[in-house]
Amino acid sequence: MLTAVADGVFVRQSEFCRSNAVVVVGDDGVLLVDPGVHAHELQALARELSELGLRVAAGFSTHPHWDHLLWHEMLGSAPRYGTSRCVATARLRRSDAQAKAARLAEGVRLDLLGEIIDVPMRTDCIAWNGPPARILEHQGHAPGHAALLVSGVLVAGDMLSDVEIPLLDLNGTADPIRDYLAALDMFHEIARDVRVVIPGHGAVGTADQLLNRIDQDRAYVTALNLAQERDDARIEPSAGYGSDWLPGEHQRQLLYAQQRAGLRPSD
Ligand SMILES: [Zn+2]
Repeated sequence: MLTAVADGVFVRQSEFCRSNAVVVVGDDGVLLVDPGVHAHELQALARELSELGLRVAAGFSTHPHWDHLLWHEMLGSAPRYGTSRCVATARLRRSDAQAKAARLAEGVRLDLLGEIIDVPMRTDCIAWNGPPARILEHQGHAPGHAALLVSGVLVAGDMLSDVEIPLLDLNGTADPIRDYLAALDMFHEIARDVRVVIPGHGAVGTADQLLNRIDQDRAYVTALNLAQERDDARIEPSAGYGSDWLPGEHQRQLLYAQQRAGLRPSD
């Protein structure tokens, strides 16, 4: 169900990994960010929009991971956008993303996955008929990752989650830890303009919670930078969310950091 989080901004959470789709109402349709995962959820979203008399004017993928690249024909054929680097990476890794979607997403059209083009820009905002949606591009988590700042809402993509630890891009990136810390610094700089934060996965947060999440994520990544273990409630056995995969991701990142620091032999 769509829930209003600010004037003209709605969120809808999927069953899959608490993924958040975001709807921004414009003058002649909505901007739909990261629509969701399972086909029945995308269909339900399409129905809800239609009941509200809204059509999709444009789509946007925050980053080139498979669960942010899906679409359904009921959402229409509006152009779908990403940053240039996101588009290029989505193309490059399309078959891998399709394989993941085939395994994890029920009933989705694999041919519609990742059909995105370079986002048209007006200065640093998306060129569309709606409230200014500022693009905050960084390279933390994935290449060409863009958060959007629109109507006081920070649409964060896969950052600033209450349930997921920072997940670095370890796919051959030169310095994923530096990239991640740079992204957190950028969020800190614009934090005073934010009233609500929507992570790609997890709970919507307030301005205060945004600052707490930046601090929590910075502490985690700073510890990694020093190749140190650090307690984080999101990977405790009691965390509930992601207990079958997040601790493994943490161990993978810690191993990377320890190898980088020369504390363990590289593969
Ligand atoms: Zn992601």
